[in-house]
Amino acid sequence: MLDPKDINWDEIGFSLIPTNSMYVARCQDEKGWQKGELEPFGDITLSPSASVLHYGQGLFEGLKAYRHHENEKIALFRPKDNAQRMIRGCKRLCIPPIPEEIFIDGVEKVARANKDFVPPYKKGAKAQGALYIRPAVWGTGPVLGVAPSSRYAFIVFCSPVGPYFKKGFAPIKLKISTENHRAALGGTGDVKAIGNYACSMLPGQNAKKDGYSEVIYLDAKHDKYVEEVGAANFFCIKGNTLATPSLDGTILPGITRRSILQIAKDVCGLQVEERKIEVDEVLKADEAFASGTAAVVAPIGSICYNDKEYTFNNFEVGKYTQKIYDTLLNIQHGVIEDKYGWIYPV
Ligand SMILES: *Cc1c(COP(=O)(O)O)cnc(C)c1O
Repeated sequence: MLDPKDINWDEIGFSLIPTNSMYVARCQDEKGWQKGELEPFGDITLSPSASVLHYGQGLFEGLKAYRHHENEKIALFRPKDNAQRMIRGCKRLCIPPIPEEIFIDGVEKVARANKDFVPPYKKGAKAQGALYIRPAVWGTGPVLGVAPSSRYAFIVFCSPVGPYFKKGFAPIKLKISTENHRAALGGTGDVKAIGNYACSMLPGQNAKKDGYSEVIYLDAKHDKYVEEVGAANFFCIKGNTLATPSLDGTILPGITRRSILQIAKDVCGLQVEERKIEVDEVLKADEAFASGTAAVVAPIGSICYNDKEYTFNNFEVGKYTQKIYDTLLNIQHGVIEDKYGWIYPV
């Protein structure tokens, strides 16, 4: 394991750097969820017939701990929202819902136990250094036929991270997928089910081969409404209106998304709209960006659609995108007042 003192915070990107400890809680049919404990970070043992391995009965979450500029305080960002989202996902996948107290106990303990791995205040390329915390819940009991497991594990581990996209906060090139979809109505696109992600690897890989950072997915029914950017939410701005796809069942309800809607309204004075957005409208926008815990706010410089390139704001960061990013990052780092109760000191 790397000693945190040896980490070059300016160099790290978004890949796993193992830390001291992880949290493990378990659930057995009759007993229900029991509070977990910290264990050294390391391999786990699992039945080869665990339901998570065969049928994808599992969910994950992602949140960050930030170091604040004063007194080195460490704080999580809206962890209860992650807990509630995991509870919703559990219900969809027939997993006994992990109680919010156990979820919070896990992320709090992991953040505290690994506090030396939280990057220094606004360090790391483009100030995006943070401790990324990954809670996950898995069906661990043996199954043969497709059926819910009798046993579950809730695991929380963490890794220091830098920017998700190599260049940090800089415009990215995207491509609209005309072959694949991410989610369909009635499916699991609105929860962080592990099974939603392996199928995004091929379109993502193909886009990268062609020089794009990520794929934009359109809706599976009409092939005309923009849904998400890889595993991030999509926004576009025209005049003084900011729009993002409404949560109609195929969009993952991002916590960054929800925070941005609030900031756009309160701080930027933008009109905000949650609705269906046609691709033709997107291509004419003044600014566009993607959002998520990992990528924070990623300005979109251009979008390729049917072999044609559409550029936004001369491939420069737009003024509203900049303002939203600065405000969000400054709330997360305790630089500006958190009027919303989003900050959760640990
Ligand atoms: C996790 C995720 C997001 C972003 O959610 P945040 O809570 O903002 O991190 C968006 N889309 C998909 C598909 C995701 O998995």
